[in-house]
Amino acid sequence: MEGLMKGRRGLIMGVANDHSIAWGIAQKLAEQGAELAFSYQGEAFGRRVKPLAEKVNASMLLPCDVEDSASIDAMFSEIKEKWGGIDFIVHAIGFSDKNELKGLYADTTRENFTRTMVISCYSFTEVARKAAELMNEGGSMLTLTYAGSVRVMPNYNVMGVAKAALEASVRYLANDYGPRGIRVNAISAGPVRTLAGAGIADARHMFAYQQRNSPLRRTVNIDEVGGSALYLLSELASGVTGEIHYVDSGYHIVSMPALEQLKA
Ligand code: NAD
Repeated sequence: MEGLMKGRRGLIMGVANDHSIAWGIAQKLAEQGAELAFSYQGEAFGRRVKPLAEKVNASMLLPCDVEDSASIDAMFSEIKEKWGGIDFIVHAIGFSDKNELKGLYADTTRENFTRTMVISCYSFTEVARKAAELMNEGGSMLTLTYAGSVRVMPNYNVMGVAKAALEASVRYLANDYGPRGIRVNAISAGPVRTLAGAGIADARHMFAYQQRNSPLRRTVNIDEVGGSALYLLSELASGVTGEIHYVDSGYHIVSMPALEQLKA
């Protein structure tokens, strides 16, 4: 199937390098004819994102730090000036102090709780609101979440709480913008080795556990997340909104380790 995204323009937020989930998504969208803009957080990331953006003939490369509303506004002003409107956005952004992605959730500080919430949850709402001003019927928005929102994962701590709020935001935003024909969804990805993923203490054990115990007996890669993102952002999913779609080798459906693990 080709050209699913032909004539559609969208913003990719959250590429840090070629391991980023957002990069897997961007490549799938570009393969299907989407015209892309990329945002980056600060000049150091900008230098890494530039060659990737060039690979997929991106039209714009824009700085944006989501902790700063003025930065978000400036990005959307540029998009409005250059494109006039926008058809889709991908929000693949998360952050928490790695010193609090270990030990007890109960020890989370007020300061890091607030910062994690603003960057990992509220930023999607703010970006969605700005994007919706530029979107027509058929627009689509996507964010990235993790199953630590609904079940306790070791060390995921405050990120799990932020992802729970993010998933609730997806439902409220889907209901806000549904009457205008704009869809809002999330992908709940299984563990992927990325910069953000490396911030979680003992992440390699979560990775290995999922490899051994998910129904597919493996983890997922960024191409697979990209494929599901393409579906959710394209007209193939025109009847889907407010959904948390798991791309995790089926890990979320199991309730105990695989029998071969127990018998080993
Ligand atoms: P990544 O490190 O490649 O991407 C995280 C991105 O967030 C980076 O590009 C970083 O610049 C951006 N970011 C952080 N703070 C920002 C700020 N203040 N302003 C603008 N951008 C900011 O890691 P990733 O794993 O690809 O993460 C993408 C998303 O996927 C995150 O929401 C993450 O929680 C989610 N996710 C990751 C996994 C995993 O195992 N890696 C699993 C499920 C969900």
